[in-house]
Amino acid sequence: MKKIVTGEDYVNSLRNRKLNIYLLGEKVDNYVDHPTIRPSINALAKTYDLAVENPDLASVISPLTGQRISRFLHVSESAEDLVMQNKMQRKLGQLTGTCFQRCVGMDAFNALHSTTFEIDDKYGTNYHQKLISFLTEMHKYNYVVGGAMTDVKGDRGLPPHAQEDQDMYVRVSKRSDKGVYITGAKAHQTGCINSHWMIVMPTIRLQEEDKEFAIIGAVPVDADGITYIYGRQSCDRRSMEGGDIDVGNAQYGGQEAMVIFEDVFISNDHIFMDGEYDFASLLVERFTNYHRRSYVCKSGVGDVLIGAAGAIADMNGVPKASHIKDKLVEMTHLNETIYATGIAASYQGYEMKSGCYMCDPMLANVCKHHVTKLPYDISRLAQDLGGGLVATMPSEKDLNHPEIGKLVKKYLKGKADVSTEDRMRILRLIENMTLGRNAVGYLTESMHGAGSPQAQRIQISRMAQMEYKKRLAKILAGIRIKENKENIVEEMGGYFARVFKVIK
Ligand code: SF4
Ligand code: FE
Repeated sequence: MKKIVTGEDYVNSLRNRKLNIYLLGEKVDNYVDHPTIRPSINALAKTYDLAVENPDLASVISPLTGQRISRFLHVSESAEDLVMQNKMQRKLGQLTGTCFQRCVGMDAFNALHSTTFEIDDKYGTNYHQKLISFLTEMHKYNYVVGGAMTDVKGDRGLPPHAQEDQDMYVRVSKRSDKGVYITGAKAHQTGCINSHWMIVMPTIRLQEEDKEFAIIGAVPVDADGITYIYGRQSCDRRSMEGGDIDVGNAQYGGQEAMVIFEDVFISNDHIFMDGEYDFASLLVERFTNYHRRSYVCKSGVGDVLIGAAGAIADMNGVPKASHIKDKLVEMTHLNETIYATGIAASYQGYEMKSGCYMCDPMLANVCKHHVTKLPYDISRLAQDLGGGLVATMPSEKDLNHPEIGKLVKKYLKGKADVSTEDRMRILRLIENMTLGRNAVGYLTESMHGAGSPQAQRIQISRMAQMEYKKRLAKILAGIRIKENKENIVEEMGGYFARVFKVIK
């Protein structure tokens, strides 16, 4: 296998692999050219092409191999690295209008860098060095590495070991002196089929009885024993109809699949945690910190939707109407709020014991919490500006029909100098992003990816430092409190201490 450089190299690297994939009840052999799957491959291919077109933005020189590699494979060595990840994510959101699927692996490597280091520190294991060797191998070929975290969970009120069916969380099912075998399933795994390797990680806090669930390891995506059941997406049948208008965004789409592991082998050199259950919650927390600010990707996607709303206003002949201008400003304000919190989390990054940089956990959670809401508000405004045609418009086949086509062209016309077809294309793009295939990424994934809203609220409440804030208020209100030291930040620790650089 040669090092992958261009999008085309990447697409070719996916060919001739034997994956067990099911889509709409059928086994898919040539998934690379499947019309429903290909747009998701194109979105990932764009991460390679951007690295060629704008190397400073989307690539780095690997500190492990000295070769140029994708920024998605680079562990953050500075706050600036974290910031550049966000800038690259926004750009890719703009170029694809969808989820380009590559951030999960990036955030997994970042989180594992510090976690494996700290496990080794406590238990004298050698996970960190194995992780670095694996990462070096990934750099050599410039591979796509996916991260698989979300277990199917069964009864949400029970821990893994207490589940009636022990496969509700991925676990070690067998052992040999060469490695372990895992069984279980991961739900809605972004870009899993489009990856070369997958890092499997636990999804929740674990206790001693859950030891066999405390497994982290890397497996090739085409390993024996893995079945992929492709998640269908809203309006996905349109990609099978031919034509390129009704799909809304013909080139790009996201990808989620259920991944089922049945005694899948992980070799010893690819195991990065095995039984250290006390580090599971730390890993999950670190991974979600990184991933929650990665959701600035949605500000790039939002740029496309705002552009579509502005374009349809032009095509309808009403770009100067004050309420329309105001709605576009509101959409922009909401969208930049996502970007602002995400990139601020990266700017406030700080060094971990292993030498990698962690983004600010409070702002990362605030970013993702905005993402669970603001794309819905932006979508509402886009549909408002698009009008009812977003959901009721005749099809591409009607537009091109020998008899009724001229009626569609005549009665769906907006401004005289805009073709009906172009107007339909923009309306379909708004539909695609707010109701159709890419609404999966822009809306529902925004809600649940990297944790549902309540998960961020829990983290925000943990970091809110309420006692510190009450104390600030009481001091200014003249209320006598036991100690009235000037610098109370230092003794409080936590978020504000980091903000004010009292501690790292
Ligand atoms: Fe990356 Fe965004 Fe897709 Fe997550 S949703 S993988 S952060 S593009
Ligand atoms: Fe995601």
